[in-house]
Amino acid sequence: MTEQPSRRLLLVHAHPDDESINNGATMARYATQGAQVTLVTCTLGERGEVIPPRLRHLTGAALGAHRLTELRSALGELGVTDVRLLGGAGRYGDSGMMGLPDNDAPDCFWQADLDEAAGRLAEVVTEVRPQVLVTYDDNGGYGHPDHIQAHRVAMRAVELAADAGWSVPKVYWNRIPRSVAEAAFARLRTELPGLPFARSGSVDDLPGVVDDDRITTAVDGTAHAAAKAAAMRAHATQIEVAEPWFALSNEQAQPLFTTEHYELVRGPRPDTRETDLFAGLAPEEAS
Ligand SMILES: [Zn+2]
Repeated sequence: MTEQPSRRLLLVHAHPDDESINNGATMARYATQGAQVTLVTCTLGERGEVIPPRLRHLTGAALGAHRLTELRSALGELGVTDVRLLGGAGRYGDSGMMGLPDNDAPDCFWQADLDEAAGRLAEVVTEVRPQVLVTYDDNGGYGHPDHIQAHRVAMRAVELAADAGWSVPKVYWNRIPRSVAEAAFARLRTELPGLPFARSGSVDDLPGVVDDDRITTAVDGTAHAAAKAAAMRAHATQIEVAEPWFALSNEQAQPLFTTEHYELVRGPRPDTRETDLFAGLAPEEAS
């Protein structure tokens, strides 16, 4: 077996861009520290809305191929080299927003057999042997079918991998503390007139917002703010960045967080808020 870095982080995301928005600073921080950072992206996001007019001719498979190049550029900004497309690029189709007919396409991720998809991910888990796995909550953060399915597949893969010989010590869901979200939008209201965005989003638009007492972990990625912003910019079809704000295709400004928050859902809950996803791991687990 080839020698692995002692600390290994696995992130499971639905589409290219989700990794940079949710975890860009965290990924850059741990990659810089020499940890193994592995990203599994479940779809190519070929049903995403394209922002720049010059790229709006891209649809379907052409958009998926383009978004894969955006993903590779983004990961280059973050210093991450290990990316896997679940089942291979294009195996699972983008399911589109909840309620659209796209949700019924037989090859879309929403229609994927849970154990089959989770089995593919479990193979990655048993190969990488991460101490830490990061994904979304059971609503996928905000209800997108591919995000909900990524959550289900990730949580099921953790079970399957445990049966196959690697029990992931710590699993986290992406979170935003309500107080942090509220403070950011209060500031955004004063800055909006000077920004290139038509309007402000609101706390309700952000994925994974919960009351502060559910947050177990805050990863300070301030030192990697530029890398995160560059990674998000690399997803030019999907994101417009004006630090420390950005907007998706709905043109609603929202905060670009460089301290990223998490809720530990597998592993002993810490007494005080952690600042490191690997905190508290016994030496034999962190090897
Ligand atoms: Zn997404």
